[in-house]
This record gives sequence, C-alpha cells and structure tokens, in this order.
Amino acid sequence: MADPRGFLKVRTRHEVEDRPVEQRVHDWNDVHAHEGLQPWTQEQAARCMDCGTPFCMMGCPLGNIIPEWNDLVRQGRWREAYNRLSMTNNLPEVTGRICPALCESSCVLGIHQPPTMIRNDEVTIIDQAWELDLVQPMAPQRISDRTVAVVGSGPAGMACAQQLTRSGHTVVVYERDDAIGGLMRYGIPNFKLDKHLIDRRVAQMEAEGTVFRPNTEIGVDIFWDELRDRYDAVVVATGSTVARDMDLPGRDLEGIHFAMEYLPDATRRVYGVPERHGIDAAGKHVVIIGGGDTGSDCLGTAIRQGAADVTVLQIMPQEPACRPDNQPWPTFARLYQKTSSMQEGGTYLYNTDSVEFVGDESGHVRGLKIVDVAPGENGPFTRQSGTERVIPADLVLISVGFLHPDTTTLERQLPVDLDARGNIARDDAFATSQDGVFACGDAGRGQSLVVWAIAEGRSCAAAVDEYLTGSTELPRAIVAS
Ligand code: FAD
Ligand code: SF4
Repeated sequence: MADPRGFLKVRTRHEVEDRPVEQRVHDWNDVHAHEGLQPWTQEQAARCMDCGTPFCMMGCPLGNIIPEWNDLVRQGRWREAYNRLSMTNNLPEVTGRICPALCESSCVLGIHQPPTMIRNDEVTIIDQAWELDLVQPMAPQRISDRTVAVVGSGPAGMACAQQLTRSGHTVVVYERDDAIGGLMRYGIPNFKLDKHLIDRRVAQMEAEGTVFRPNTEIGVDIFWDELRDRYDAVVVATGSTVARDMDLPGRDLEGIHFAMEYLPDATRRVYGVPERHGIDAAGKHVVIIGGGDTGSDCLGTAIRQGAADVTVLQIMPQEPACRPDNQPWPTFARLYQKTSSMQEGGTYLYNTDSVEFVGDESGHVRGLKIVDVAPGENGPFTRQSGTERVIPADLVLISVGFLHPDTTTLERQLPVDLDARGNIARDDAFATSQDGVFACGDAGRGQSLVVWAIAEGRSCAAAVDEYLTGSTELPRAIVAS
C-alpha cells in the first residue's frame, strides 16, 4: 500500500540533472549522471497515488506494474522491486535510460502536479539489482525438444529469445553485424546508451542458454528457406533499416550520407571497431536534414567530433516547449521534450525545406539551397518565393526517417506477405503468411521505440511457444498491429 498522503507531503518533482554541457561534449559517456540511489529517490517514489485505475501502466506498452514498484522503491525493498520489474521488462536498463516515458505522460498526478519519476525509478531498481547481485541467469526448469531461430539481435530479438529460452526451447539468435544489440549497439550513440549495458545482458542470456551467432547474415550466409528447414520456428526481428532518401538535384555529390551510415561509425570509433564508411564531422560545416530523434543524435555526435558548425533543418514548425493550457492530459510526452543534444549547440532552422545540393568542381557538396515554407495554396508546407538561400555544407546527413525492413533476400527465399508500407505482414499473433515464421519489432511495426520492440518480442515469444507446444504461460503485453 503506497503512502496515501505522499503526494501531499512532496509536491515537487526532483528533476535529474544531466552532466554539464561543457563537460559532456568532450567525451562519449552518458549525458545523464546516473548516480544511483539518491537521498530523494524514496521520497519521490512516495508521490505515487496508487490510483485505482493506473493509467501509467496503460501508457507503458509493456504494462510495467508501476504503482507496485513505486511503493517498493519507497520502502527500499529492492529484491521485490526487481522481481516485479523483471516480470514485464527484459531490458529495463535500456528503457530506464532512453524510453520517452510514455507512462509519465499518463500519470494521473500529472493533472495537478508534475508526474511521478517513473523512468528514474525503473533505472534505479535495475541499477540497484545489478549492484546488489540480484540479477542472475534464470535458466529453464525443463528443456523442450523444440528449436527456434531468431534473426536480428535488437531489443525485439533479444526479448523474444530470452522469453523462449527461459521456456525451455533451444534458441539461436543470428545477427549480421559483428556485435549483438541491433540499434542499441551502434545506432544509438554511446552518450545516450553505454554499450556495457548490452554486454552485461547478453552475458546473462548466454548463461541461460541462448546462443548468439554474430557475423551471420540470413539470406546470404544461410538462406532463409534453409533456416526454416533447420528450425521448428523462425522469428524475423530484422528491424526497419531502409532509409528514406531525398530526390534532389546534386544528391550524388560526395559528402552526402544517410544518418545510419554516419552514427554507427561514430560508435565504432569510440570502441576501436573497424568503421564501414569513415565519415568524420571534425572541422566541417555539417547540415542535418530532419529534426527527429535520429537527427538529434547526429547533432550530439557531430558536436563531439568537433564540427565547425551544425545546422539542423526541420520542415515542421518548432514544437511547443510545454503542454498547451487547454490540453492538460493525456498527451504524448516526446512533443514537449528538448533532447540533450539540442542543449549542446547547433542551430535549428524550422519551417525550412531543402531545394538543391550545391557542389564544387571536384564533385563534393559545399552547400545546400533551402527555402522557407508556410501554410499556403500548396498545403501546409508551401514554399515562400524570395526566401531561397544557400547555407554552407560540406557534410550533409539525411535523417528523414525509415521506410521499411530490407526484405530483398527474404522475399526471394521465403516469401512472406508484406503490408502496404512494405513491413512484414502479421496476424494478431505475430504469425506471417509462412507457416512457422513470425515477425516482431520494427520489421513488422515500422521504425518505433525500444519499449515497443521489447513488448513485441515478448508477445511474439508467447505466440511462438503456443505454436510449438499447443499452449503457453508466457505473458502477452500486446497484439501485433
Ligand atoms: P533493430 O534494433 O533495428 O535490430 C535489428 C537487427 O537485425 C540489427 O542488428 C540488424 O543488423 C539485424 N539484421 C537485419 N537483417 C538481418 C539478416 N538478414 N540477418 C541477420 N541479422 C539481420 N528508441 C527509443 O526508445 N529511444 C531512443 O532514444 C531511440 N533512439 C534511436 C536513435 C536512432 C539513431 C535510431 C535509428 C533509432 C532509435 N530508437 C530509439 C528506435 C529503436 O532503436 C528501435 O525502435 C529498436 O531498436 C527496434 O528494435 P528491433 O529489435 O525491432 O530492430
Ligand atoms: Fe515508462 Fe518506458 Fe519504463 Fe514503460 S518502459 S515504465 S513507458 S519509462
């Protein structure tokens, strides 16, 4: 039972400070201090009202049992808090750091006071659990004679594999990259997510019995149909990797790259792993096209690499800095959050469209012609005549989203149906059009969030378990959408 008067005693939220900008832009460590258990942690957890209808749990795609752990944090009962948390989340050390905390924008206390610190409680529980040696391998009690291949080792693949291994099935995770983790490994910069967190979790999974096969591309090193023949079930968790391009004059100039050619190399360099493209922002005029999360990660990376200047273009208007008065809740948290990279430097140009890449005689990009947009006769983004100008750019990073998964070899070797967007089509239970083949994570949902990928992976595992054994006791957080 929570302290029924906790929210009346402590009415303010203790915002967790990031490390100072002038310090953190000189290293690749986490921008957050993450100092573990603090004197205010338990007092803040006591602000949870333990609502009869916990909307926070509905806001969390995993259905994390938030009011229960808030109260256990309040009492400092870390073992029980960890037990509750690990019932619903396979990677709380990741969501506790980089989830946009959909739960907090659903917190009922948020109507009149700042919401409770749910994400911080999550990361404190799991950090305490590791610290106190509570996180141990949970090997299956019984081994089945069923085998599963999981293709892709991002959060969806990892969560799915862990659930199935713990159910007793023999699970092999195939990953084409040289290290496990999907976008968590090389896509998301180290200053948001330190990679030792992934290594630690992979070690736990290996101790439980999951087998990882990095450097193995299904479709090339092993054909998809061969994989299906070898295993009782196949899970496709290959992510949404095909980047949206820009069909503009000058697109073929040197120095124009997709964000996902740039970001993974930056993290590879931090860890001394051989790079694929060798792109470096040092000393350059960098222009990032697209002001979403990926663009923001490019900004923080370019600043740390020592770019001369960085400009981020966004066709949308500037987002409001706070919730509008007439919309107290519920709302979508990310619309109102400023990313850590935005605090570190760079110039954001809103209501701006790109017109043409401008090159020098050697064929290298040197500028980008841009134009202002405003609502008008051609829709919300009508180009405003007379506003065209060229801004300097000798490194351009295209960060305008992802289209769908790369299904080139899959379609040839094990043709599954795709949906209208090019994602892998599934029924409610994550089953594709091929018997025994399931799909989860961004490969089926489209580019999304880690928390959704984990929810998909867990729920897909339940569907696979049921397919293999006729029934399942594994939880299903969601149905496929
Ligand atoms: P992925 O993480 O993409 O993993 C798929 C894996 O499959 C990859 O490792 C790939 O190499 C492998 N693979 C593909 N094809 C094959 C094949 N044929 N054979 C073998 N392996 C294969 N979400 C958040 O919640 N918070 C954030 O702060 C955040 N930041 C992000 C920053 C960036 C730059 C990007 C691009 C995304 C970010 N996201 C964030 C989104 C989040 O990372 C994804 O939604 C999530 O990783 C999807 O998980 P997944 O397991 O479906 O796929
Ligand atoms: Fe909130 Fe995200 Fe944690 Fe769920 S996973 S409790 S939405 S921070």
